[in-house]
Amino acid sequence: MTIRLYTDFDGPLVDVSDRYYRVYLECCERVPADTPKLPLSQNAFWELKRAQVPEREIAWRSGFQQPEQTEAFVRWRQTLVHSAPFLVYDRPWSAAIDALEQAAAAGIDLAIVTMRRRRELLPAVAGYGLGHLFRDDRRFCLPDDYQKMGDTLDKPQLLRRAVTSLPPCTQAWMVGDTEADILAAKRNNIPIVAVTCGIRNETQLNLHHPDRIARDLTEAIAWILVNAPS
Ligand SMILES: [Mg+2]
Repeated sequence: MTIRLYTDFDGPLVDVSDRYYRVYLECCERVPADTPKLPLSQNAFWELKRAQVPEREIAWRSGFQQPEQTEAFVRWRQTLVHSAPFLVYDRPWSAAIDALEQAAAAGIDLAIVTMRRRRELLPAVAGYGLGHLFRDDRRFCLPDDYQKMGDTLDKPQLLRRAVTSLPPCTQAWMVGDTEADILAAKRNNIPIVAVTCGIRNETQLNLHHPDRIARDLTEAIAWILVNAPS
């Protein structure tokens, strides 16, 4: 009998809030303005992200109210957010890694399903010492040259690829921190535990009706271990 856990990477496993805020500050720096720029505090910025406020509105609230300014802001953000100089600000949640070790010890088959590109995922898996938890064939990500269509379209497909390429299991679970994770799990008939330690708050996650809400990967895994068929 195999129980499998598909986990998203950014959010459940990695705290990306510093990276996103540094990119935000860099965008504020790079977009020209004649009027005063009003950069948000890190907490204010992150709460807007968690409430799923669009980038254009975040730009607007930061003093960039001309359409060409908000456009430039959004373009810079897209260019920078997954770039190497900013990825170094990511921090893995240490308790999440402990929880994954515990899940692996309990015999749960672990797989990553992430919208990171290969070049963004593999160095992080190695750097955070996760290689023994997620074997090569358990790391589902986007090819480096993939043209993204948007997370809510790409993620269900990627999870489908994971489900069809891995050996069958008795029970599967998914853990993620966004609407794309919830949608992907539902499309693939996998129960989803949504975690609130990532880029969406509980209100936003509940709009998409996850099977369960947990604070973080530790709480999600504890619940899965208790509820796994024995
Ligand atoms: Mg995520």
